[in-house]
Amino acid sequence: MPDTIADNIRRIAATLPPEVRLLAVSKFHPTEAILEAYEAGQRHFGESRVQELLPKTEALPADVCWHFIGHLQTNKVRQLIGRCYLIESVDSLRLLDAIDSESEKAGVVTRILLQVHVALEETKFGFTPDEIRDYFARRQFETLKATHICGLMGMASNTDDIERITADFRAIRSIYDWILATCPDLRGFDTISMGMSDDRDIAIREGSTQIRVGTDIFGIRDYSSH
Ligand SMILES: *Cc1c(COP(=O)(O)O)cnc(C)c1O
Repeated sequence: MPDTIADNIRRIAATLPPEVRLLAVSKFHPTEAILEAYEAGQRHFGESRVQELLPKTEALPADVCWHFIGHLQTNKVRQLIGRCYLIESVDSLRLLDAIDSESEKAGVVTRILLQVHVALEETKFGFTPDEIRDYFARRQFETLKATHICGLMGMASNTDDIERITADFRAIRSIYDWILATCPDLRGFDTISMGMSDDRDIAIREGSTQIRVGTDIFGIRDYSSH
């Protein structure tokens, strides 16, 4: 018999150091699958599309902590505010500004991670390491009114080269350490979200505090029915 979702959750959770959180990436999987993970004790779930996340938040228990991990368009920010435990994929200052002003209007504080781009692949999403360092060197976070930056999120290159993957995670970790050394008064800057199904062990070795696991929990995603 193949492992169930509950088996997968328990198996992965049992191998995690206590300081590493398991985020179950449930994008493209139905609410029944999420409920099965929930019943196995899982509370943190990650989604990558606003139109998929919102109905799921309605259908699932209120104590689920939803994480947004996909590219977020500024015109969809308002719909997300107040619905997420953590928005992990903040990849531009424009998006950060939109989150801050919508949060202020709504009278809530939104917790976010800055997405840093270190991987080989060309992508327009994510801050470069230099942009991140510049942001903190100038202490620009002090202008935020209703947003709390809780740490960094990043991905390693999509490759089998373990050395390259290790170097990518190490780069993310070193930016995080640099920020803490440069701004020792930062509060609640404690999250390094890195590591997915295929590279989570390397990420944990390199100092991840949260892995984002989809396939190893829920199986292969079926994109065709969407
Ligand atoms: C889909 C996704 C994951 C999960 O990937 P798996 O390989 O299925 O574990 C993790 N992080 C982000 C940002 C994703 O979009």
